[in-house]
Amino acid sequence: KLRSEETMRRRLHNAIQELKGNIRVFCRVRPLLGDEKAAAASLPISFPECDDNNEIELVQSSENALGKATSKAFPFKFDRVFAPDSSQDAVFEDVSQLIQSALDGYPVCIFAYGQTGSGKTHTMQGPDSISLSSKDEHILGIIPRAVKQIYENTNKLAERGWEYTLEGQFLEIYNETLQDLLAPTGRGAQTNDKQAKLDIYQDSEGHTRVKNVTTVKVDSAERVHWLLARAADNRTVAATNCNERSSRSHSVFTLFLRGTNALTGESSSGVLNLIDLAGSERLANSGSSGDRLKETQAINKSLACLGDVIAALAKGSRHIPYRNSKLTHLLQESLGAGNSKTLMFVCVNPSPGSAQESLCSLQFATKVNSCQIGTARRQAA
Ligand code: ADP
Ligand code: MG
Repeated sequence: KLRSEETMRRRLHNAIQELKGNIRVFCRVRPLLGDEKAAAASLPISFPECDDNNEIELVQSSENALGKATSKAFPFKFDRVFAPDSSQDAVFEDVSQLIQSALDGYPVCIFAYGQTGSGKTHTMQGPDSISLSSKDEHILGIIPRAVKQIYENTNKLAERGWEYTLEGQFLEIYNETLQDLLAPTGRGAQTNDKQAKLDIYQDSEGHTRVKNVTTVKVDSAERVHWLLARAADNRTVAATNCNERSSRSHSVFTLFLRGTNALTGESSSGVLNLIDLAGSERLANSGSSGDRLKETQAINKSLACLGDVIAALAKGSRHIPYRNSKLTHLLQESLGAGNSKTLMFVCVNPSPGSAQESLCSLQFATKVNSCQIGTARRQAA
């Protein structure tokens, strides 16, 4: 047991080391909650015995035309599969290397993809902004842990002459419109002219920036709790039903990490993007109308565009369609840079009622997983 765990960890470590420009996909299945436990006699999801903890199988059951029950098994393999009993600690252990890369000057993107209720926010942020301030650190998700790790490491690097500035932004993309989640509370999503001012532009050095966005110095681990609480406040002000709204929008937490070393004259500039995507569930397009239809179209478009951009990068295409959605435009620099590192979590709800959506998510993730951006680039070069 021990040995295979060690082998797995070493292989994973190597895989992450080679991540330069490549995309990795981790799958995380959340546990059944409350009533779901009693309702689910058997689960459509299982985890084949394997050394690497990287396989998952989904069985789709249906009735054929004659009313006979049939089932079909879909096996999937990712860089890592986290079963429902995996802790936040275990998940972060496999992410922390990538966080370190941002500190070392790489552009890093970590996405959470999946249907609403599959555990994206739990993975990226943790339970909710109220419990985030609790003393139990084991429940924290990737954002607060990443900031803590970075903060601790910058303190260590200071002994070797490095001085870092850490600046954070938190944006929400709703219906292809940017909202500033760190704007002074209540102003974030208030009026249309305020929103219109948040334009994406290229600065004189060619960096993608957002005009008028609130940027805060993240100078302590505590600061991130303040920041997440303010984002939650801004979301509440913006929506009558906060949960509903947040499942229909993408949120992008960005940390810019700039370091200079007075002793050696070196400098480094990394960026960490932590992205909680809108719910990937297919809403019956024909049945929805008005605001709902508009939301659905915006989400479908931007998630499809994310897939297109990743595929175009993998193929080494000359034209990468970043500008087709706000999300890819915003992340253009991080996704496109030759040395960028991208990780996608595909989050899965194991309930039988979610099997169809889970299958769609796992298939999307498989497509992403097949994209070897770094390889295509090296071949094209
Ligand atoms: P999403 O952001 O994808 O809509 P959430 O992260 O809000 O989903 O998760 C839905 C519910 O499931 C929440 O109540 C959350 O606390 C719970 N949950 C998600 N993942 C886990 C997990 N790994 N362990 C325990 N509870 C979880
Ligand atoms: Mg969520």
